[in-house]
Amino acid sequence: MLLPLTYVCPHCAQASETSADPSQGSSQQYVEDCQVCCRPLLLRVGVEDGEAWAEASPESE
Ligand SMILES: [Zn+2]
Repeated sequence: MLLPLTYVCPHCAQASETSADPSQGSSQQYVEDCQVCCRPLLLRVGVEDGEAWAEASPESE
């Protein structure tokens, strides 16, 4: 089951929605293109007790 996630793009400051797969572990990190400005960002995702959070930073960091 996927968990819904919201994060704020570090490039355009717009909120975007994505989803996390808890079966991939409680701490995940992957690169995704912003759905608004299409620039790459590094998404750090944590899953705990059936809830997910995400933190986005510029991919170049
Ligand atoms: Zn963006």
